[in-house]
Amino acid sequence: MSSSVDEVVDLCRDLLRIDTTNTGDNATSAGERAAAEYVAEKLAEVGVSSEIHESAPGRASLVARIPGTDPGRGALLVHGHLDVVPAEAAEWSVPPFAGEIKDGFLWGRGAIDMKDFDAMVLAVVREWQRTGVRPPRDIVLAFTADEEAGGDFGAHFLVDKHRHLLDGCTEGIGEVGGFSYTVSKDLRLYLIETAEKGINWLRLHARGRPGHGSMVHDDNAVTALAEAVARVGRHRFPVVVTPTVRAFLEEVSEALGIELDPDDPEAAIGKLGTIANIIGATVRNTANPTRLDAGYKDNVIPSRASATIDCRTLPGQADLFLEQLREVIGPDVEIEHVQRQPALETTFDGALVDAMAAALRAEDPAARPVPYMLSGGTDAKAFNRLGIRCFGFAPCNYLRT
Ligand SMILES: [Zn+2]
Repeated sequence: MSSSVDEVVDLCRDLLRIDTTNTGDNATSAGERAAAEYVAEKLAEVGVSSEIHESAPGRASLVARIPGTDPGRGALLVHGHLDVVPAEAAEWSVPPFAGEIKDGFLWGRGAIDMKDFDAMVLAVVREWQRTGVRPPRDIVLAFTADEEAGGDFGAHFLVDKHRHLLDGCTEGIGEVGGFSYTVSKDLRLYLIETAEKGINWLRLHARGRPGHGSMVHDDNAVTALAEAVARVGRHRFPVVVTPTVRAFLEEVSEALGIELDPDDPEAAIGKLGTIANIIGATVRNTANPTRLDAGYKDNVIPSRASATIDCRTLPGQADLFLEQLREVIGPDVEIEHVQRQPALETTFDGALVDAMAAALRAEDPAARPVPYMLSGGTDAKAFNRLGIRCFGFAPCNYLRT
């Protein structure tokens, strides 16, 4: 046991020391090639072969398959991304890419998102290979590029260009989920992701009559756009409790002894401490203005103005949401779809869920697994395009909550 824990630390530390910063722009991103080669080497050491595929120079993802004993069963995809978001060294108390151990913690950009999970998966597979364990079902490992910028150069690329590597995968586990929320010393909730909100980035376009800023003018694109943007920004869409969130709230309110009104869950959510923020965004569709663009000169009224709205939609709500949003925006502002990815939702049951729950309890007798919905998106959005039933399960026991 302890030798594989030590190995997780060593592997994670090595991965943290490989800068895989993803800026969202290939010209300035570090790329994942060195990390993918490191993973390939660690797999090859124990006899597991793998393939590395680049979507652009340096943007590398790795896939490997470990054959199971029962070919009749669907394969399990286990996926972790290799890239990390940028880190400004001056804002860190330790160098972000040094993999330092301090105060009993391993520090570095990506230490919990998600080189920790990459290292755990590698350590388990290496242990299997050393001791002759063969899993019952095929295990497909995917270490991906570009998750932090939407996965076009990673998971979506694999699905589009190398989908045969994922043949037979029926279920998948990756981020975000499996982390703990301590209720008491006898009870720790572990949030396993069974749903993700959809992403819908919209651009609003308002048009008007151009003119001179010194004149009386009643058809100003900036004014029309600003009114629509302000309405959207202030609007609260109605509460919708999906099956995942309902199951989560029932489990959590029981665990915490909180009264729950299923039709008005926000009072209960407000009592959830540090996880209230995570959960609060999962009971309604949201639309937040994020960018504005208009004009080119201080005294010229432009003929057009545009704004970006970041919308996140609940499972099954995308079309209804657009109708509601159209009402808020009004008829005169045009809506352009910039990026659209559907929401995901699966049920919290079955052998895989039981195995995840058993794995948590084996390490932490106080563990109580609960399903939850992520308000963001992960590589699961790409793998779900192949019909893979995806869960977020990269376990982490947070000592402070
Ligand atoms: Zn991540």
